[in-house]
Amino acid sequence: MAVTTNSLMKSMFFGEIREDLLFPYPAMTQETVETVGMVVDSVQKFAKDHVRATEWDDKGAMPREILNYAAELGLMGLAVPEEFGGLGFKQGAYSRIFQELAGIDGALAVTLGAHQSIGYKAVLLFGSDEQKKRWLPKLASGEWVACYCLTEPGSGSDAASIKTKATLSPDGRYYTLTGNKLWITNGGIANFMTVFAKTEAVDKKTGEKTEKVTCLAVELPTEGVSVGPAEHKLGIRASWTNAIHFDNVRVPVENVVGGDGQGFKVAMGVLNHGRMGLGAGGVGGAKKIFEAAVLHANERVQFKKKIGEFGMIKEKIGRMMSNIYAAESMVYMTTSLIDRGDIDYSLESAIAKVFSSEMLWEVVDENIQIWGGLGYMKEYPYEKALRDARINRIFEGTNEILRAFVALSGMQGPGQELAGLADAIKHPLKGLGPVSDFAIRKVRQRVFGASMEKAHPSLKKEAAMIEEFAVEFATNVEVLLRRHGKSIHLMQFAQKRIADIAIDLYAMMCLVSRVTGQVQKHGVEKCDLEIALARSFFHRAGVRIRNNFVAIDRNDDELMKFIAEKAYEQGGCQFDILKD
Ligand SMILES: Cc1cc2nc3c(=O)[nH]c(=O)nc-3n(C[C@H](O)[C@H](O)[C@H](O)COP(=O)(O)OP(=O)(O)OC[C@H]3O[C@@H](n4cnc5c(N)ncnc54)[C@H](O)[C@@H]3O)c2cc1C
Repeated sequence: MAVTTNSLMKSMFFGEIREDLLFPYPAMTQETVETVGMVVDSVQKFAKDHVRATEWDDKGAMPREILNYAAELGLMGLAVPEEFGGLGFKQGAYSRIFQELAGIDGALAVTLGAHQSIGYKAVLLFGSDEQKKRWLPKLASGEWVACYCLTEPGSGSDAASIKTKATLSPDGRYYTLTGNKLWITNGGIANFMTVFAKTEAVDKKTGEKTEKVTCLAVELPTEGVSVGPAEHKLGIRASWTNAIHFDNVRVPVENVVGGDGQGFKVAMGVLNHGRMGLGAGGVGGAKKIFEAAVLHANERVQFKKKIGEFGMIKEKIGRMMSNIYAAESMVYMTTSLIDRGDIDYSLESAIAKVFSSEMLWEVVDENIQIWGGLGYMKEYPYEKALRDARINRIFEGTNEILRAFVALSGMQGPGQELAGLADAIKHPLKGLGPVSDFAIRKVRQRVFGASMEKAHPSLKKEAAMIEEFAVEFATNVEVLLRRHGKSIHLMQFAQKRIADIAIDLYAMMCLVSRVTGQVQKHGVEKCDLEIALARSFFHRAGVRIRNNFVAIDRNDDELMKFIAEKAYEQGGCQFDILKD
């Protein structure tokens, strides 16, 4: 098989199914299973003894000491290498523990996540040995709490537009940091801040001054840093969310993480990696709430029947469980790609975050529906679960931005190939290589299609669906690129469809891989539930994908644009039965 990229999903944009990356479905070693199992047990005990989620939610605050208890269990340094005092877990093990924490309390999971999924992740991923030695032991032991400071009042999704400035001193020994950061999780308790700021760079060739982003580590207390009051929020109310003001804060140049001017790469690298905490958190939160939905469906009687016996409730339960299983399959496939260390996992981690956060939202919403009026009442924890879940679609990259990222980043490879082809056609002698590679791949796809040979025979139909969609997906990507050229980056209706197909395709591939592994291990008869979960997911995803293919050419995009423009013009929906 010709391999065009170093990424499972980027290859899919060329119509290639990377069975070499997809099979076998990752499994933890027995030793890791045992160690993670022990941590999971201690997390459950910690929750019972110390976590008072409803009380904290009512107050809008948790006691700071809770983090000391968490630290005693190693929960502040899960991914920090053992040599720096952490537990040294890889991403799969780390995510499994986050899954557990999210099932206990969203606010606590977000607090611990902001500390280590993003707060000190820049040091872990991009820090020098000296920086790791200096900071990680205090961060892993919980003596210090970390936060990640990117967002500003004028800069949310458009992270490159930050205004916070860091100016190098004339002697080159320190930066002076000035600016405002907004909605920083753990801002109110942090001792260590990773701050992204604009710094001046001089182009070596032209001598022109440009602005670049640089990542600076700020140790507290430091003169000039002031933290605003905790924000009142819809959900995860007990977590700390604060504005932070930096007023001429002196930061030694030794505190630059990842190199001068490399801050954007650092910020995005941290989020690509950190997002898996949210993906796994979605699975943990959803599983916990799903148990409640099943319990109520089994207990509540109406019309002399358990409500769980009614078809409309069974449909909800079936759909929820199959989506949870799909999300879990995607999360742990992605963490294994991360743990390999040699693979581009940026698309997969964005996809897993989007899918998992939307799956969680659907589960908390349907659970309330199953609980009816009781679900709406404060007396039960389900309205809190709904409020807590909502943030996941907004932070660490909104799901809109991540969809655009998935579509555009995925289309980059085929786009470059097409541009290369156009060039090659202009210079036929030089371009023989790319033209023939492209032609061979296309002929192969048309004649043989994409192939998935490692799926278990019990999933033959599902594998065939992936094969069919893979070729059609690549063809549609090419059609869109030829149609729009570089302006594809403006075509968000098309981007959304491409991203949605990619999301479903990734889920399908992860499911086939995981269920194949299970069937091979336990036999078909013992895996009837896993097979049903996968088939049911394929059924729904297949319908969505076909609709998205059709909608690439037949859609109401122009009508939508017209309606939106009118709404902006009129300031809302001005129709009124009194004025008809
Ligand atoms: C509770 C909480 C905790 C947070 N913690 C942190 C933290 O620890 N550190 C940190 O740095 N930040 C944090 N944030 C900020 C968070 O990351 C941002 O809210 C998020 O990035 C979105 O930015 P925004 O809210 O300014 O929305 P905007 O960027 O203004 O977006 C508003 C809407 O427009 C959409 N949109 C924007 N641009 C586009 C586009 N090009 N195409 C299509 N749609 C678009 C968005 O998807 C969204 O739906 C936190 C926020 C909250 C609410």
